[in-house]
Amino acid sequence: MGLSLGIACAVTVMLVFALVITFSLFQKYLRRFYGFQEVDPAGRRKRSLSSKLKDMQSFFGLNQTGNLDSYTLAVMQTPRCGVPDVHDYVHSQGNRWTKNVLTYRYTSDLPASTVDSLIASALDMWAKVSPLRFIRSFSQQADIMVEFGSNEHGDSFPFDGPKGTLAHAFDPGEGIGGDGTSHQMLPVTCLSPTPGFNLYLVAAHEFGHALGLRHSQNPESLMYPTYRARKTHNLLSSEDIMNINVIYGMLSWSYPFKPWYAGSYFPMAVKEKCSPGLSFDSVTTLGEAIFFFKGGYLWIKHNNKNDVKEGPIYNFMPKISSKIDAAYWLPQRSAAYLISGSSYWTVKGSQVKGRDKNISSFGFPAWVQQVDAAAHIHRTVHTLFFTQHLYWKYNEHRKAMEDSYPRNISDDFPGINKPISAAVYKHGFLHLFLGAEVCKYDIKRKKVVGVNKANSWLGC
Ligand SMILES: [Zn+2]
Ligand SMILES: [Zn+2]
Repeated sequence: MGLSLGIACAVTVMLVFALVITFSLFQKYLRRFYGFQEVDPAGRRKRSLSSKLKDMQSFFGLNQTGNLDSYTLAVMQTPRCGVPDVHDYVHSQGNRWTKNVLTYRYTSDLPASTVDSLIASALDMWAKVSPLRFIRSFSQQADIMVEFGSNEHGDSFPFDGPKGTLAHAFDPGEGIGGDGTSHQMLPVTCLSPTPGFNLYLVAAHEFGHALGLRHSQNPESLMYPTYRARKTHNLLSSEDIMNINVIYGMLSWSYPFKPWYAGSYFPMAVKEKCSPGLSFDSVTTLGEAIFFFKGGYLWIKHNNKNDVKEGPIYNFMPKISSKIDAAYWLPQRSAAYLISGSSYWTVKGSQVKGRDKNISSFGFPAWVQQVDAAAHIHRTVHTLFFTQHLYWKYNEHRKAMEDSYPRNISDDFPGINKPISAAVYKHGFLHLFLGAEVCKYDIKRKKVVGVNKANSWLGC
C-alpha cells in the first residue's frame, strides 16, 4: 500500500513538472514568435494567450482550438528560425535594400574551405533568381554581416540549443537598436552550426530574411519557419522566387524599377492609380503581393511595403497582352490563375506556365464565355466564380464544379446589388469590388461589413 502510494505521488510530481515545463515553453514561444505580452505597455487590453495560440495554430495550418494539444506542442518543439512569424506594424516598412549590389562579411572558426563555399552558394541561390549581386567584403563593414555563434552571442537573442532556434537574421536596415552590442544598427545574420542540421539550408533561409522576406505558411517554401531537411538543389519554391521578385524585380529588371514610359496607348487616367472612380477588372493576392489589373495595365502592391510597382501586364508577364477579367490565387499550389475571356493562364513564381487553356476545363458550360471575378476561399477547397448575376462554386480538390451551381448572387449575397468586377479573399473576408467601391463581405453572416474606395488598397 505504502509503496503504491509512493509511486502515485512520484508520477503526480513528474506530471506537474512536465506541465510547468510545457507551459513555460509555450508562453515563451508565443512571446517570441507571436508577440504575446503579459502586460501591454500601451495599456490596451492585452490579447489573451489563447488568441495568440490560435494565431500560431492558424499559421501552421493546425486546428485553431486555442488549446495546447499534442500537434501544437509538436510544432513548438521543432527546431526553428528565431525570426518571429508575425510582425508589428512599426517594422512593416522599409525592409528592403535600395541597391542591387550588396556586400557581405563573416569570420568563422570553421574551415575556410567549407564556410566560403557554403556562404557564397547560399547567397548565390538568391542572386540566380533576382537582380541582386553579392560581393564579399574583408573590411569591418558590410551590408550583410554574418556571425557564427551559439547560446548568448551578444544581441539578446540567444540560441537555445538543438531543440530551440538555429539562426536568425534582421530585416534590411532594421538593426538591433542602440544597446552598444557589436550588432548595433547593423543587419546581422547569426548562424549557429548545430550537428544534424544542414547549415547551408539554414543560411539560405536566413539570407532570405536579410533580403526582406518573411516567414511563409507553405511548407514547400524555404521561408517556412521550422527546420525541414530538403534537397539542396532547386531549394527555392516558386513562391520564394515570386516573393523576392516582388521586392527586387525579376532577374532582368534593374533597380529602381522604371514604370512604363508615358506613352499614348494607356490614357493618363488609367495609369493614375489614385484617380477618383478608378475600378479594377480583377484583383488577386499572389504570394505576399496583391495584383490589380485594369485594361492591359497592372499595379503590384507588396503586403508590407508602401510603394506600388506598375506597368503594362506584358512587362511583368510577357506572354499576356490582353486584359484580365478575373484572377485568383491558390496558396496550396502557390499558383495564380488569370482569366481573360474564355481562356486562362497559370502563373507560378511570376512565370506564366505553358499556353493558355479554355475555362471549360473548370466545368463551365459552353454558354459561359467570360468570368467577371474569382476568389479562392482560403482554408476551404472552394473557388467562387462570378458571371453576371450568377456565381459558381468550384472544388479545387475534386477539380469540378459543385452540384446545384450556378446560383443567383442576389440570393446568397444579400446587400450586393451591382455587378461584381473583381473579388479577392483576404484576412477572412471576401472583398467584392463593385465599380469604384470595394465591399468587405462577411460570408458567414452574409453581410456587407465595410465599404471603401477601390483604390484605397493602393494607398489612395
Ligand atoms: Zn526564418
Ligand atoms: Zn544574433
